[in-house]
Amino acid sequence: MSTIEQNLQRVYQQIRTAAQDCGRDPRQIILLAVSKTKPVTAIEAAIAAGQRAFGENYVQEGVEKIGWFRERSEGTGLIWHFIGPLQSNKSRLVAENFDWCHTLDRPQLARRLNDHRPAQRAPLNVLIQINISDEPTKAGIAPEDMLSLAALIAECPRLRLRGLMAIPAPESDFQWQLAVFKRMYDLYEALQRVHPGVDTLSLGMTDDMPAAIAAGSTLVRIGTAIFGARD
Ligand SMILES: *Cc1c(COP(=O)(O)O)cnc(C)c1O
Repeated sequence: MSTIEQNLQRVYQQIRTAAQDCGRDPRQIILLAVSKTKPVTAIEAAIAAGQRAFGENYVQEGVEKIGWFRERSEGTGLIWHFIGPLQSNKSRLVAENFDWCHTLDRPQLARRLNDHRPAQRAPLNVLIQINISDEPTKAGIAPEDMLSLAALIAECPRLRLRGLMAIPAPESDFQWQLAVFKRMYDLYEALQRVHPGVDTLSLGMTDDMPAAIAAGSTLVRIGTAIFGARD
């Protein structure tokens, strides 16, 4: 067994444990393997261990990896999530290549992703990124602007609104992590009341995954625990 396969097995087990601890069905939680800065050989090892969903932060790097796997049979059935900050001038590459975008946080980006999504592909799955810790320099919209952006996305035929994403300010205490994530869960429920198709709450990284699962996350984004530390 490769190290990456062992790591993946451990993370799957941690997801099961965290879910059981709070009475959730672990099958409700998708594991996104965050492969940013890691070589295609690392992704291949994860594929061999059964992983299919991958997250990338940098547009160019992600597009290159997607292209590499598109030409190979092992790439069949992979699902690519863009999870990094997105400049408007790179939105075309994301719309053309990825299956999901987690970082939609302004009206202009919604319009551009919609305009550039190729007609022959399924609509791009999008998540609204919320600035839940209210950090002035951070990406994401304020919670009070969520519903107006959601209404705009719902008008875009080439986008499919799937839910919310957040990257809280780092916090090591479980209860503090949980409190922030619960605010996200409340927003998620409020969004679902208006947009019943919403089914995804993207919360949790290597250092705060159990709290995210306890708060109701349906998709955890894990890099370090699978692929090791980044340079
Ligand atoms: C890098 C990154 C992750 C993964 O973080 P780890 O701590 O390595 O698990 C998850 N989400 C986003 C948005 C990231 O940029």
